[in-house]
Amino acid sequence: MFRKPDLNSLLENFTETFNLSFFISDTQENVLWGNFNESYNYHYPIVVDEEILGWVKGKSDKINAVCQMLNYIVKEEFNKKLLAADTLEKYEEIYFLSSISHKLSKCLTFEEIMKIITVETNKLLESSKVYIKLLNDKGELDIFSLIGKKLSKGQGTIESISGYVLRSGEAEIVNDVQQDYRYIPLADDTKSLICAPLKVQNQTIGVIKVIHNESVKYTSEKLKLFTALTSQAAIAIQNSQHHDQLIKYSHTLEQKVLERTKELENAKEKLEYLATVDELTQLYNRRYFNEYLDQEWRRLGRERKFISLIVCDIDYFKLYNDYYHHQAGDKCLYQVAQCLKNLIKRPADLVARFGGEEFIIILSNTNSLGAEKVALKLCNAVAALDIPHHRSKCSSHVTLSLGVATTMPRVKVSPQKLIQAADKALYKAKDRGRNRFATVEFSPKIIH
Ligand code: GH3
Ligand code: MG
Ligand code: MG
Repeated sequence: MFRKPDLNSLLENFTETFNLSFFISDTQENVLWGNFNESYNYHYPIVVDEEILGWVKGKSDKINAVCQMLNYIVKEEFNKKLLAADTLEKYEEIYFLSSISHKLSKCLTFEEIMKIITVETNKLLESSKVYIKLLNDKGELDIFSLIGKKLSKGQGTIESISGYVLRSGEAEIVNDVQQDYRYIPLADDTKSLICAPLKVQNQTIGVIKVIHNESVKYTSEKLKLFTALTSQAAIAIQNSQHHDQLIKYSHTLEQKVLERTKELENAKEKLEYLATVDELTQLYNRRYFNEYLDQEWRRLGRERKFISLIVCDIDYFKLYNDYYHHQAGDKCLYQVAQCLKNLIKRPADLVARFGGEEFIIILSNTNSLGAEKVALKLCNAVAALDIPHHRSKCSSHVTLSLGVATTMPRVKVSPQKLIQAADKALYKAKDRGRNRFATVEFSPKIIH
């Protein structure tokens, strides 16, 4: 201060105008201004905030006026410095808070928020450990780690200092923890702590506790900043919890939608299957047969290939039913159906129940010679099942009559015409004594 030119010339003016002789020293007797070789009779202190900073020393008591003036100037300087320090501190406070709020507002997940809070708390306060404790549904405190992992469930005791802060909603500094009656001695050797509530509106959702294993003096200024940090942290924590819940909920919803879709798909598949399959024989039904025949008719027509149909009818089946009863009739139908199905193996071929005790077979890309071979095989295979039929007039066991018809499909001709031809062949087989197959020449004009 004494090096400032203004003050220097002021003091020199004093010396000349009032013919004063004095010098100024600090408390260590170091001369700060003036002629230090002079002896002096008087000395007056320069005091700021009750602390002696130095002395004005001289031969006359008039130097007291100089001392008073210096006291005034020094006090002003001191106040200016205080104001500057205060302004700087305020600026740092605002910067600190706005940077935290910026960081917190950028994050959404609980883990990220917890990490930022812990890191920022560590930056603000000297600490050995930072604990974030959140109130759970049961009114207990869950303790979380740096990365937001639940360290212990409901272990944060409500009786401790944290519990006290939680209930009072007021932040606290405890610089000598061991002397505090609320302190519950644990395995750690906490010496000082600072603890602030996490408040959202008027509700306290938890606390942040910062501990130090050495005696430190946490100040009320730091507590003020820490409280500002925790109030932002509380909102961010609650938002992130809501966000996480929302994500979890939407995942569950997605999962449910997936499950329902799968169920619906399965139900649809089952329905489709039921709509195409005959329940008793487990063969395709007539509806599906017609669809498939139309499709193959067009395909084989385009490819200029043969298609054959075989209509099969169980001989004297009415008599079988009458004699063995309906249930045995059903069983017999099933056995014959499976026998046919097992013999028709080509992927494009199809066996269906045509109605009652009649079955119909599509043989794709098969000419009449091939179809007749298959018909014979089927006839023999059913006979070989050796299902007794005491009332049959053509055999001692269940037999089939079969009608075969073959053509190369044409778009203009209905596939129903081929069915009629096969049916006609079946009648031929029946007429000829049953338990055999017969063939007819296909003509689009055939009418039954
Ligand atoms: P044909 O030798 O001339 O073919 O004589 P049929 O007795 O086999 O033929 P008909 O058409 O006179 O009788 C068919 C019988 O098939 C009538 C019915 O008793 C039986 N039937 C039809 N559908 C079923 C069924 O789902 N279950 C049972 N058990 N019997 C059936
Ligand atoms: Mg019949
Ligand atoms: Mg019959």
